[in-house]
Amino acid sequence: MKSDIEIAQATKALPIKEIANKIGLKEEDLELYGNDKAKVKWSAIRRIKTEKHLAKLVLVTSISPTPAGEGKSTMTIGLADAINNQLHKKTIIALREPSMGPVFGLKGGATGGGMAQVIPMEDINLHFTGDMHALTSAIDTLAALVDNYLYQDNSLDLDPNKILLKRGLDVNDRSLRKITIGKGSKFNGVEHDASFAITVANELMAILCLATSIKDLKHRIGEILVGYSKAGDPIFVKDLHFEGAIAALLGKALEPNLVQTLEHTPALVHGGPFANIAHGANSVMATNLALHMSDYVITEAGFGSDLGGQKFMDFVSTKLEKAPDAVVVVATVRALKYQAEQSTENLHQENLAALKAGFKNLERHMNNMRNYNVPVIVLINKFDTDTDAELELLQRLIKDQGIDSEVVQYHNLGSQGGIKASEKVVALTEQASEIKRVYNSTDDLKIKIQKVAQQIYHAKDVEYSEQAERALQHLIKLGKDKLPIIIAKTQYSFSDDKKVLGAPSDFILHVKNLALKNGAGFIVVFTGSILDMPGLPKHPAALDIDIDDNGKISGLF
Ligand code: ADP
Repeated sequence: MKSDIEIAQATKALPIKEIANKIGLKEEDLELYGNDKAKVKWSAIRRIKTEKHLAKLVLVTSISPTPAGEGKSTMTIGLADAINNQLHKKTIIALREPSMGPVFGLKGGATGGGMAQVIPMEDINLHFTGDMHALTSAIDTLAALVDNYLYQDNSLDLDPNKILLKRGLDVNDRSLRKITIGKGSKFNGVEHDASFAITVANELMAILCLATSIKDLKHRIGEILVGYSKAGDPIFVKDLHFEGAIAALLGKALEPNLVQTLEHTPALVHGGPFANIAHGANSVMATNLALHMSDYVITEAGFGSDLGGQKFMDFVSTKLEKAPDAVVVVATVRALKYQAEQSTENLHQENLAALKAGFKNLERHMNNMRNYNVPVIVLINKFDTDTDAELELLQRLIKDQGIDSEVVQYHNLGSQGGIKASEKVVALTEQASEIKRVYNSTDDLKIKIQKVAQQIYHAKDVEYSEQAERALQHLIKLGKDKLPIIIAKTQYSFSDDKKVLGAPSDFILHVKNLALKNGAGFIVVFTGSILDMPGLPKHPAALDIDIDDNGKISGLF
């Protein structure tokens, strides 16, 4: 089979105007970026928002990620193609924009795979419509404005050692995690320690994905906590009056991007916070827009259901016009065997015992999602090396839990690779369901954390470091302790130790620190050691990426 990029490059995209037309958008509703990408203009968004119609919403989540691969985006795209093109029901995909750091690092592209991709894949994985660049510029302009304020004015007595803002780059660069700025002569600014986080981990990315209008965007930027004065008083962006300029940099980026799949299903690819350190879903703007323009919206949450899935159900869905009508949990035979074997070496060989042992991971994920009181189905993403005996065993184990499943081949066959699965998902969305969230917005912070730790991770208890206890007292003092929580945890384990695979129980979850993201409107709860600036691996994906004399890119997976 050809590589993802070869398949994508061999497919001719339809003019984006035609794709837009299928979902009721006219040419004047679009700002075109070439022939195959467009932003949806504010005038259209405002018009569409007033329409009462709301589609069925399907959330795609998965088992814990492993190096064996799960194929969540591939399944999201394949399922949407099947509902759109095989069942002929109007469908829109709402997907995150890839971060360039992982594209050149460990992961490669993030636009699906095989016959289930969004295109143009090179553009989407690299510069796309410039949203990531706009964010990076906004992050660094804000940091520069704050440092200039320190140098030129500082009437609020901002303490240079208590600045919380980080600079940003959409590049994996471990050497920028801790830096000193303003070194040398006093004309170089006020010297202090600083740090970089990857663009997608910055609060501004979360804000872009949560804002529902430019007014809301500006308001949220104004609410960002910059740091503290020497006397310990909080200083917000609005105190320094930078919110207008930063919102001006991001206004265009807030408009959702329209592209298409290989099979010409419309896809809104917009915003992309990580799911381990942020909330992990594409923009609320894009999903809400899609809900008004189609009959089925298929969206995806990052990493496993303990991270993106939980955050989607308990937080993101409270910002959407509706909660999911059905949840798809993606699993692969290979990844479940890896859960037991912890090695990729023999995954191509049949191993029923390892599959049975590794199934515990899927069992936990699917039951957790079912506990939200929303119908759940498992889609088994078939790899060529999976044997019939393995697929049969896996389906039986899932059925024993009272959950339905389908083996799908969207990767190799496109929408033809899972028509029955798409019918089952559509049928599930017809079931009456009322989401039952894990925590209530009024719960105390520690109760919220405990509920997620016990009901989703299956921890016995939660322990707080002294730093975390101090942070909690401080949040109470600021009157900010009732905000929703975003738990920053390794994506590889239900626990905070990335080496503990499967379905661990009765462990202690260690809360190291809490961080107020006042503009985004949540508290990040740090467990274990979570990095907000990834490093590059020994063999970065970049080593395989190239471009020829005609500008044709290769090696993006
Ligand atoms: P995720 O969203 O879970 O990170 P992706 O959908 O981005 O995963 O897929 C990751 C990679 O795995 C892609 O390169 C894709 O082509 C590949 N992949 C997905 N499913 C299959 C499959 N069934 N067989 C072979 N490769 C697959």
